[in-house]
Formats: sequence, C-alpha cells, structure tokens
Amino acid sequence: MKVDAAVNEYVRRGAEVAGVHGGLLEVLTSSYRELDVQLPIRCESGELLLCRGYRVQHNGARGPYKGGIRYHPSVNLPEMRAMASLMTWKSALVDVPFGGAKGGVAVDPDVLTEWDLQQITRKFAQHIHHVLGPYRDIPAPDVNTNAQTMAWFMDAYSDINGYTPAVVTGKPVSLGGAPGREQATGWGVVDVLAAYFEHHGDDVAGKRVAIQGFGNVGSWAAEKLGRIGATVVAVSDVYGGIHCADGLNIEALSRDVKEGASVGEVSQGELITNNELLGLTCDVVIPAALGEAITEKNVGRISAELVVEAANFPVTPEADAVLKDRGIPVIPDILANAGGVAGSYFEWTQNIQQFTWSEDRFGKELCARLNTATRTTLRRAEDAAVTMREAAFAIGVERVAEATRLRGYV
Ligand code: NAD
Repeated sequence: MKVDAAVNEYVRRGAEVAGVHGGLLEVLTSSYRELDVQLPIRCESGELLLCRGYRVQHNGARGPYKGGIRYHPSVNLPEMRAMASLMTWKSALVDVPFGGAKGGVAVDPDVLTEWDLQQITRKFAQHIHHVLGPYRDIPAPDVNTNAQTMAWFMDAYSDINGYTPAVVTGKPVSLGGAPGREQATGWGVVDVLAAYFEHHGDDVAGKRVAIQGFGNVGSWAAEKLGRIGATVVAVSDVYGGIHCADGLNIEALSRDVKEGASVGEVSQGELITNNELLGLTCDVVIPAALGEAITEKNVGRISAELVVEAANFPVTPEADAVLKDRGIPVIPDILANAGGVAGSYFEWTQNIQQFTWSEDRFGKELCARLNTATRTTLRRAEDAAVTMREAAFAIGVERVAEATRLRGYV
C-alpha cells in the first residue's frame, strides 16, 4: 500500500469512530493543493543539478497550512501528501489554529555543499512563495533541514514580499525564532510519554528506552529522558546504533554527534544494527527517524512494552494491526510528535505579535498543551474502546470536519 493510501486508512478508522462519512470524508482524505516544481541548481562545483520540490497543502479549514520541509533522496509526492494529511490531524488534536501541509526536495544533502543547499533553499522558496505567507502556509524544519535552512528560506521569501519572519518557524533565535522551538518536538515526545504513564498511575522515571534516530527529535527526546530519570539504553542513526544496558551518556553523545561523528563512531556501549535496536527488550521503543521503520517484516521483533511514534508514520497499518493483537500500545505520531507544531504555533504567535516569551514559558505552555491532548486522547480511547491512534484521529477528524462544515466547504 502506498504511504498516502496507508495514512488515509488511519484517517478512515478515526472518521468511523467520529461518525464522519460520505462527501465530507472524501474532502478530508484528499489534498487541497499539490505543487511539484522543477529546481535547476548550478552547484558550487559548476555542475547542473536538477531536482524536484514539492509542497502539499492538505486542509486549511482551521487556519493557515503548516508543515515541515525535508531534504531526502526518497522525497516524492505521495509521501508529501501523506505527511501533509498527518499535519492536519496533529494540529487539530493539539488544538492549534493551523491546517496541514508538507514539503520537500528530492535531493541527497550529504553529497552537497552548504552553498549548494542555500541555492536549493532559495530557489525552492522563490518557486513556491505565491502559495506561502504567515496567513497562508508556514513551513518549518524537518528531516535534514534546520534553523539555517529556515533563515535562508525566510530571507528568499522576504526578498520578494518584504521582511516576513512569520512565514517560517524553527528559525534561529536571533532572527525571530523562539527559544525552545529547536527542542520542542523531542521534549514534547517526553511530555506526552510522562502524561501517558501518569494517566496509568506510573512514572516515566526509571523506564528503559531505545531511540531509533539521533537527529533533532531523537537527541532532544534523549536529553529530556535522561534529565527526568529515565535510562536511554540505545540510540542509532542511519549508519547503525549503540547499546549499553546501564544507560548511555547522552550529554557526551550529543556533543560528539554535533561535532560531526556518527552514533557508531562514539566510543560508548556495543554496536548494534537499527533492526536490533527495534528488537531490544526495554520498556519503550521510540522510532524517531524516517517513516515505515516498523513494517509487517520486522514487527515480530518488537519486544518493548510501548511504542512511541516520534517520527511521522513509522508504523505501517499492517504492523499496527500486529502490535494491537500482541497488546503492545502505540502512542501515535499525531500525538507523540505534536510538540513540533505546538512549538511552531508559539513561535508564530510571537512573530505576529512582535512579543517574545522566555524559554521557561515556552516549555511550560508546551507541556500543558501536550498534557491536555494526551489525556483527551486516552479518555476517548477508553470511552470508545479503541486504540490511542483511532482515538487521536477521531478527535482530529471531528474538529476539522466541524470547521470544514462551518466554513461551508461542503
Ligand atoms: P533529522 O534529520 O534531524 O534526524 C534524522 C535522524 O534519523 C538522523 O539521526 C538520521 O541519521 C536518522 N536516520 C535517517 N534515516 C535512517 C534510517 N533509515 N534508519 C535509521 N535512522 C535513520 O530529522 P528530525 O527533524 O529529527 O526528524 C525525525 C522524524 O521526526 C521525521 O520522521 C520527522 O518527520 C519527524 N518530525 C520532526 C519534527 C521536527 O520538528 N524536526 C516535528 C515532527 C515530526
């Protein structure tokens, strides 16, 4: 099943719980607008690089489209369509006034220079700027993009439209970014996890956790887990992972990775593969890398007691059904990584009000919002006797369906 059809499978199950059917459901399971643009770049080497850029706007009933931009060779239109849809339900679930979007460029950033990446970012912004804006569509960082990418993007947009910091979130703090936004997705994963355990009369402190992916999301989740007394026993990146039953030293690991080391080059624990990491016996496994990490092929390996989807769409519907049968709960992506869009909302509000918050306020508001969304999801799952994913999608679909109806779209 293609990724966009698979995400729609999740949407349909949520819609069933929410009682949303017919033409309205058809609107909610297709995108509003899909851009596919040609990006010819003259690289620093003098070579011509021709790549494609995509921006999909899924549903804007509740507010401007919102979603990240990723740079990866596997980026394609169905994937962007699926990710844009997830953003719609995520924004609704944490009750921020955004719709859903996603974008990306099909390119391998590992083989490009900083100068090449800047040219790609500027050209992409120039080619899609007409559908963007603080009240239209607001990009953010995602896989292989970061605050620097957002600074270039904002600058290219501002060249055409005048200075507009609110057109992107995840900017450097010195350019209107919010202290806390860089950490928001990873920290938010842990806020959701803490609320989950609290709801069950348990505590995240003392839990043993394995994390696949040690980029923005995985590394900040690991940092907060360590700070609140959980033990991170394994982490990985695209090249493989490391495992230490007594717990890894996350501070030292983050420092080495920031300086350019891969996880496996850091002298801690024993080397493991990504598949071995997913199969470790521990309390929580957190896929925080790319989509479709857990499929029907490797789901049998999962030995953790809880799966937390920090990445977008890391568990396919086939694997999800197996986890359900085995009684392994899954905290779904639209809840688990919603700290990113909530943090982006805080940055956007500060930009449009030209008023800055402290990092402390940012962290407290983030935690409160995610706590509410987690409790609401858990209560709905219990009341309707459905999984957390079905409950989360049901809440998202209900809220978007109501806005869609009220605005007279259908
Ligand atoms: P990133 O580029 O900062 O890090 C990605 C990490 O995953 C890196 O450590 C990379 O080496 C690793 N990785 C890549 N391919 C892999 C593979 N095949 N196997 C194992 N590891 C692999 O990206 P990020 O911003 O941390 O995003 C990670 C996930 O979280 C993505 O699914 C993204 O859509 C999702 N997400 C990110 C944000 C955000 O604010 N950055 C918000 C919500 C969701």
